[in-house]
Amino acid sequence: MSIANHPTTGDLIAEARVINAASRLTRLGGGAMAPGVIAAMREISTTSVDMRTLQKAAGRRIAELTGAEAAMVTCGAAAGLMLAAAAVITRVDPARIAAMPRTEGLPNRLIMARSHRNMYDIALRTPGTELVEVGIADRYSGAGVRDCEPWEIETAVDERTAAVFYCATPEAEPRLEEVVAVAHAKGVPVIVDAAAQLPPRHNLTRFIAAGADLVAFSGGKAIGGPQASGILCGRADLIEAALLNMMDHDIHPALRDGALPPHGIGRPLKAGKEEIAGLLAALERFVATSDDDDAPRLRRRANRLAKLLRGIEGTKVALGAPDRHGMVSRVELDCGTPDRAIALARALDRGDPRTVVVSNMLTRGIVIFSVDCLASGEDQIIADQVRNYL
Ligand SMILES: *Cc1c(COP(=O)(O)O)cnc(C)c1O
Repeated sequence: MSIANHPTTGDLIAEARVINAASRLTRLGGGAMAPGVIAAMREISTTSVDMRTLQKAAGRRIAELTGAEAAMVTCGAAAGLMLAAAAVITRVDPARIAAMPRTEGLPNRLIMARSHRNMYDIALRTPGTELVEVGIADRYSGAGVRDCEPWEIETAVDERTAAVFYCATPEAEPRLEEVVAVAHAKGVPVIVDAAAQLPPRHNLTRFIAAGADLVAFSGGKAIGGPQASGILCGRADLIEAALLNMMDHDIHPALRDGALPPHGIGRPLKAGKEEIAGLLAALERFVATSDDDDAPRLRRRANRLAKLLRGIEGTKVALGAPDRHGMVSRVELDCGTPDRAIALARALDRGDPRTVVVSNMLTRGIVIFSVDCLASGEDQIIADQVRNYL
């Protein structure tokens, strides 16, 4: 049967499938879901639930695991950031929620180190905010050694400031604790993007412990939850505000207590009951396993792929350096010249099956293969493709 008529899931997969040698990228569908996640999603999928109560119940457990006062499930870290930006402006005020994205007369500025700008901050800019960048990431100029210092954030805070934003990475400057100190001294909350900061598992509690008021994690990356899931955790009043901006509020006035805003700016970011149950199942498994569990398996796979790629004329094969968690999960194929590396990556990307590689070293002549999303047998296909092309 043709895919144009009644495509089965198998047909869809056949048309869109790639060999993922690029790691858990969103554009490649993220990582594999953890064992037990589908069962949780299936179990809840045929039941009706009160979504707010479900969010509260899931939030209590996530709060426990993150050390936060409260938490909720979002449909991704980017969704969590948008809800966070809305929450620090609207708080729990129904009129403010109803007015979104109009924020005239309200504090709507988010202050951030210029080096923390990134492609995902469109989520922060959506709910009527204005980004204020401070500092200069001069360490990238070759000449400089500076980035952003706490006093630069401190002096930028004024009565128009809604929050300070911090994109967490191991290299991020200034230190989160220092940013929290200057923000809190001025009574302003701190929002942290920690989307991809797991593992290490101890980062689940690290940013809250450092004083962050709202922290967003991806559920579809290393946690192994549904691709469209995430966590927002933090201060109870701000999580309540984020929920109010997201939840469906078509409840008859006679059947509720008090005012409810109309659907908020976060309503299109609905997290479904399947995402909530699936994320929680993944998270339980994530915290029950250890950062070390994956390392030997990944190293074995990397060794195997490296062996298959060795001996191609004009190339050099090396295992990638251990990542910041000590994991070896990459193989580097030095093609000698940028042109040759780019041509190989393009050929693989247009191959049958398509193979997508890590592309950030192409201009240095190196094609990188990540093994953490490879299915069994795919290393041999990659090696054959590379040999055929070169
Ligand atoms: C992946 C990522 C996001 C987006 O996460 P989603 O869960 O896909 O919405 C946001 N910020 C950073 C830094 C990321 O790496």
